[in-house]
Amino acid sequence: MIEPQTSSEKALSEKSLPEAALSEIDAGVAGLAVSLRGVTKVYDSGVLALGPLDLEVRRGEFVSLLGPSGCGKSTALRLIAGLNAPTSGTVGVSNRAGETRAGRSIGFVFQEPTLMPWASVRENVRLPLKLAHVALAEGSARVGEALTQVGLAEFAEAFPRQLSGGMKMRVSLARALVTDPDILLMDEPFAALDEITRFRLNNDLLSLWRNLRKTVVFVTHSVFESVYLSQRVIVMTPRPGRIKAEFRIDAAEPRDEDFRTSADYAGYCRMVSNALAPWQSGQPGS
Ligand code: ADP
Ligand code: MG
Repeated sequence: MIEPQTSSEKALSEKSLPEAALSEIDAGVAGLAVSLRGVTKVYDSGVLALGPLDLEVRRGEFVSLLGPSGCGKSTALRLIAGLNAPTSGTVGVSNRAGETRAGRSIGFVFQEPTLMPWASVRENVRLPLKLAHVALAEGSARVGEALTQVGLAEFAEAFPRQLSGGMKMRVSLARALVTDPDILLMDEPFAALDEITRFRLNNDLLSLWRNLRKTVVFVTHSVFESVYLSQRVIVMTPRPGRIKAEFRIDAAEPRDEDFRTSADYAGYCRMVSNALAPWQSGQPGS
């Protein structure tokens, strides 16, 4: 359904992020990395894509947004990243230094690895540092570190065409990590990979998260993936995406293949699945 749109909503919707839309995260709510309050997004086409959405993510938390295709998950991530402006509401992002400005200290991993085919793995990962005019020597050290973190140190001189899908995604992850962001936003990064590769990347992502202490907001439409990875799973309604239900996944750490085959895991998956059920059966709830 196309929602009506006022002219002021339309005027706001595609502008660069206005300062007014960025909120200071409440000093009283210490430890928040992301805070969305009453956020909606209406695209120029008049589509109400999202909201109103209220979402808080604690620093260091691993949260998944789970919802049917087209419910506004990517829209939500783009708003957090400051790539789009909200039509109404406020988006607050806080980095380690307590600065509050969307788009800062954020690494973004897209579903497609979007690598430059003519450039080596090393040069692909270096790109964000080049754009930020980081000196070559410092940049090289950081690129080396990011490639080691994703297990690709040996492949620095390879070209994307020589890599498997999983390795390309690792390059994309290294490119997001190379600026040492506080917050990683990941938009269905493993959806196109085969199951074995996806499981391996799930495990590697969890150890990176544990070791590097990043805040992760992970978008997926897989119940199983969301439960395996997350401390908290947020189930969204069909468009315009709102929060339908929220689940805390209190499983013992570290999560591993034993967890994946445990009764606990199956129980959580059933619970989360039930929250999605009205839409999984092909009967959109709204
Ligand atoms: P999801 O990631 O959950 O699949 P999206 O955030 O991509 O959903 O899209 C939510 C809704 O907004 C969809 O109906 C989609 O068609 C619409 N949409 C997304 N991006 C744009 C855009 N740039 N212009 C107009 N409509 C858009
Ligand atoms: Mg999407």
